[in-house]
Amino acid sequence: MSISRRQLLASAAALPLRAESARPLKIVVTGGHPGDPECGCGGTIARYAALGHRVALLYLNRGEGFCGGAAPGRCAPIRTAEAEAACRLLKARAVFAGQYDGRAVVDSQHYDDFARLLAAESPDVVFTHWPIDRHPDHRAVSMLTLDAWLKAGRKFALYYYEVAEDTMMFTPGEHVDISGVESVRRAACYAHGSQRPEKWYPKQVEITRFRGAESGFAQAEAFLRHWESPGGVLP
Ligand SMILES: [Zn+2]
Repeated sequence: MSISRRQLLASAAALPLRAESARPLKIVVTGGHPGDPECGCGGTIARYAALGHRVALLYLNRGEGFCGGAAPGRCAPIRTAEAEAACRLLKARAVFAGQYDGRAVVDSQHYDDFARLLAAESPDVVFTHWPIDRHPDHRAVSMLTLDAWLKAGRKFALYYYEVAEDTMMFTPGEHVDISGVESVRRAACYAHGSQRPEKWYPKQVEITRFRGAESGFAQAEAFLRHWESPGGVLP
C-alpha cells in the first residue's frame, strides 16, 4: 500500500505527543454500553491512570435494555452505578451520551450532539469500537466517534479496540502490555455484575492472551490506529 504525503505529514505532526509526557493527557474511551470500554481497554486505561493521565469512559447509553433479572425499567440506575464503580476502580470518570440501549440513532443531529460532547472533553487520545461489529450500538458509537474526530480536524489520536464475541475482522497493529494490571481490569469488568461477567470475561482473557502471544507479553490489549491521526501515545 502507498502512503500519501498528507498522511506522512499527519504522522510527523503527531510526534510530540507521548504517553510519558510531563503534561497529563486526556483520554476518552467511547463504548456502546457500560462495560464495553472496560472490557476492550481496561488494562490500557489502568496503565494510563497509573501514569497520571486523565481518563473518561464515554458510554452511548446507560444499558437500559438488560440488567439480569431486574425489570428493564430499573436497568438504567443499576447499570449507571455499575459503570461508576468500574470507573472508580480504573481511576476514570464516567460520561453518558444519553442515547437508549438497543435503539442507537446515527443522524445529523446525533452526529452534532456527540461531536459537541466529545469536544467538551478536549481529548488527546480517543479509543472506540472497531466498526465491523455484531451490535448496532457498537457500530453507532464507532461512527459517531469517527465523525467527531473529523469535525475536530483529526487532531486527537484515534484508536479502535475489540470486544469479545462482537468484534469481527479486526487486525490490530499496536499492542499494550497489560500483564501487570490484569487484576484491575478484571475487577472493573466484574463491577458489571448484572451482565454476568463470568460468562464473557473468560472470552476477553482468551483475546488478551492471544494478543500477548503476538507481542511477547503474558497479556496484551491491541489496537488499530487511524493512520491519519497522531501516534506514539499508547502507554
Ligand atoms: Zn456493548
